[in-house]
Amino acid sequence: MGMKVYVVGEGLPYDVRFDVRKILADDTIRLLPDVKLFPIYCPACGRTQSNFFVHLGSRYGQVGELNCDSCGRLISVTDHDNRVDSIRFNQTEFFFPELYKTDWLYLKQLEEQQDISLNAVFEQYEGLHALSMDEARHLIEQAIGMRTSGNQEFITDTRITKLPITVNRWIELLSKCGVKNSYLERLQ
Ligand SMILES: [Zn+2]
Repeated sequence: MGMKVYVVGEGLPYDVRFDVRKILADDTIRLLPDVKLFPIYCPACGRTQSNFFVHLGSRYGQVGELNCDSCGRLISVTDHDNRVDSIRFNQTEFFFPELYKTDWLYLKQLEEQQDISLNAVFEQYEGLHALSMDEARHLIEQAIGMRTSGNQEFITDTRITKLPITVNRWIELLSKCGVKNSYLERLQ
């Protein structure tokens, strides 16, 4: 339970993983994020903490707390006690489908731009087991015959000044696939 500082190079089972679910209403596969590795934002001074953190589980929504490494004030980290798709620092909430650009809006754009079916790519994983973000990215890269470099960095919310490597590479894929800037707001 709780959270801990991420040590660079430490192997995690996953940084972000997706539950692969089919939405019956429109027969479309969705990738629902569950986040293990995240940055922390201090609402008091507006700084991103210098470390990333590993989510180890929560109880009654309490993940943990720490003192800001910039201003020293207390940051209380809470979630919704379920699949981690959003996180709160004091009263300020961040939604991972936006922060990590996993919302279906972006994948739909990718499908249209690349003329591929993500249903076809992900159908076999539906309901079976979760895919890591790296696995999902790799499957999409294979389907369209493209490779990301992993050398690019993006900002998706001006309040958070760095994102995990895995997430940057995911967004690099979206960007390379022609997902438009109007959809990737504040994408650099
Ligand atoms: Zn602070």
